[in-house]
Amino acid sequence: MKYVGAHVSARGGVENAPLNALEIGAHAFAVFTKNQRQWKAKPLSEESITAFRENLDKSGIKPEHVLPHDSYLINLGHPETEALEKSRAAFIDEMQRCEQLGLKLLNFHPGSHLGKISEDESLERVAESIDMALAQTDEVIAIIETTAGQGTNLGYRFEQLAEIIEGVRDKTRVGVCIDTCHIFTAGYDLRTGADCDATFDAFDRIVGFDYLMGMHLNDSKPDLGSRVDRHESLGKGKIGWDAFEYIMQDERFDEIPLVLETVDPSIWADEIDQLYIFAGDEPERRANA
Ligand SMILES: [Zn+2]
Ligand SMILES: [Zn+2]
Repeated sequence: MKYVGAHVSARGGVENAPLNALEIGAHAFAVFTKNQRQWKAKPLSEESITAFRENLDKSGIKPEHVLPHDSYLINLGHPETEALEKSRAAFIDEMQRCEQLGLKLLNFHPGSHLGKISEDESLERVAESIDMALAQTDEVIAIIETTAGQGTNLGYRFEQLAEIIEGVRDKTRVGVCIDTCHIFTAGYDLRTGADCDATFDAFDRIVGFDYLMGMHLNDSKPDLGSRVDRHESLGKGKIGWDAFEYIMQDERFDEIPLVLETVDPSIWADEIDQLYIFAGDEPERRANA
């Protein structure tokens, strides 16, 4: 069974996110549990937490199909001590917010070496940061996202994800989110079935599908290997529909949140519909209301 949704707005409070997901016929969603461009956030209020849990229940979406995304400011592989500590504290806060909301996953970009330490040293810091966050929470799983490799961002090779996982002590609480746009611009082709076979076989060999706990389904404005992160609506970018049809028909992508971060929210409902058509689901079965 496929669980498709989108990164929905939390405007007016995180408790509105499940309702926004419901409105577009989603069976999964991503959300920011705080303002993603600020370090500080007020703690979640009791009312907000209760309302979120009630609305999630009403939406019929299971907690394990919600893939919250952390702040863009956090860099768990930061080369400088003070900034690294600030990032770690913010990340732990985000993990704890997820737990308060009854959620199971937190998706984050691994980090950036900023040209000041080696890739390996930075990846080691990311693993250490994950260990620290896991020690201060009970069950949220840290989900490392593949990146496009813009600038000095890490996570653009499957080997780098494997290296982080290798460094984490509790491997039951670490996972991976593949972003189709990011891996494509990082150089992993997805344009044909054969390309998808090769890319996902490599992923399985290097990281392992057991660690795949979420996906971001995005087409790409830039070309293969451009190392630039610019999403496009499905079928309108350089990847094309075939990759998304492949994913929807392959059971290795069952049971995990498949989340759109495409550029036009006004067509999310249509994109979700099309993906479920690829999966062969009957419209009655997809109806979420
Ligand atoms: Zn993404
Ligand atoms: Zn992106």
